[in-house]
Amino acid sequence: MADPVKKEKPKKTFEKYKPVKACVKCGAGMGEHSNRFACGKCGYTEFKSQKKEAKKE
Ligand SMILES: [Zn+2]
Repeated sequence: MADPVKKEKPKKTFEKYKPVKACVKCGAGMGEHSNRFACGKCGYTEFKSQKKEAKKE
Protein backbone atom coordinates (compact mmCIF):
# COMPACT_ATOMS: atom_id res chain seq x y z
CA MET A 1 0.00 0.00 0.00
CA ALA A 2 1.39 3.27 -0.98
CA ASP A 3 1.70 5.85 1.57
CA PRO A 4 -0.54 8.71 0.77
CA VAL A 5 1.73 11.61 0.30
CA LYS A 6 0.58 14.51 2.23
CA LYS A 7 0.78 17.49 0.09
CA GLU A 8 1.35 20.61 1.92
CA LYS A 9 -1.23 23.10 1.07
CA PRO A 10 0.30 26.18 -0.35
CA LYS A 11 0.04 28.74 2.30
CA LYS A 12 -1.66 31.83 1.32
CA THR A 13 0.97 34.43 0.95
CA PHE A 14 -1.76 36.92 1.17
CA GLU A 15 -2.11 36.29 4.82
CA LYS A 16 0.77 38.55 5.52
CA TYR A 17 -0.62 40.98 3.10
CA LYS A 18 -2.30 43.53 5.21
CA PRO A 19 -4.44 45.92 3.32
CA VAL A 20 -3.73 49.27 4.73
CA LYS A 21 -6.02 51.14 2.50
CA ALA A 22 -9.33 50.44 0.90
CA CYS A 23 -9.71 50.95 -2.78
CA VAL A 24 -11.89 53.89 -3.55
CA LYS A 25 -13.18 52.15 -6.63
CA CYS A 26 -14.07 48.68 -5.51
CA GLY A 27 -13.43 48.78 -1.81
CA ALA A 28 -10.88 45.98 -1.84
CA GLY A 29 -7.73 46.21 0.18
CA MET A 30 -4.90 47.89 -1.55
CA GLY A 31 -1.33 46.79 -1.38
CA GLU A 32 1.15 49.24 -0.17
CA HIS A 33 4.17 49.99 -2.25
CA SER A 34 7.01 52.34 -1.62
CA ASN A 35 5.33 55.26 -3.20
CA ARG A 36 1.86 54.12 -4.01
CA PHE A 37 -1.06 51.94 -3.18
CA ALA A 38 -2.23 49.44 -5.70
CA CYS A 39 -5.52 47.62 -5.81
CA GLY A 40 -5.09 44.00 -6.75
CA LYS A 41 -8.69 43.69 -7.74
CA CYS A 42 -9.39 46.46 -10.16
CA GLY A 43 -5.90 47.72 -10.73
CA TYR A 44 -6.51 51.11 -9.34
CA THR A 45 -3.33 52.81 -8.28
CA GLU A 46 -3.14 55.65 -5.92
CA PHE A 47 0.07 57.46 -5.43
CA LYS A 48 1.00 58.40 -1.96
CA SER A 49 0.90 62.03 -1.37
CA GLN A 50 4.30 63.31 -0.72
CA LYS A 51 5.20 64.76 2.54
CA LYS A 52 3.73 68.07 2.96
CA GLU A 53 6.31 70.67 2.83
CA ALA A 54 6.11 72.10 6.23
CA LYS A 55 7.71 75.39 6.45
CA LYS A 56 10.43 76.08 4.05
CA GLU A 57 13.08 78.18 5.46
ZN1 LIG B 1 -10.05 48.32 -6.58
